Amino acid sequence: MPIFEFLCEDCGQPFEELVFSSSAVDEVTCPECGSAEVQKMISTFASRIAGGSSASSFNTSSAASCAPSGV
Ligand SMILES: [Zn+2]
Repeated sequence: MPIFEFLCEDCGQPFEELVFSSSAVDEVTCPECGSAEVQKMISTFASRIAGGSSASSFNTSSAASCAPSGV
């Protein structure tokens, strides 16, 4: 499952989104405010900030192995 973590640059809301291609990343919008200014996070970065507001992404360390796939 190509689930990526994003962070909204407008409201700071972290969220997860299914992304099936690299072009689809550009179409991801924030579920909270609808902003397109979202930042795609890699799992290592997500775990670094997990100690802050969101602790739901603490078990995604294995997701890094399937991240760089060109399809
Ligand atoms: Zn937002």
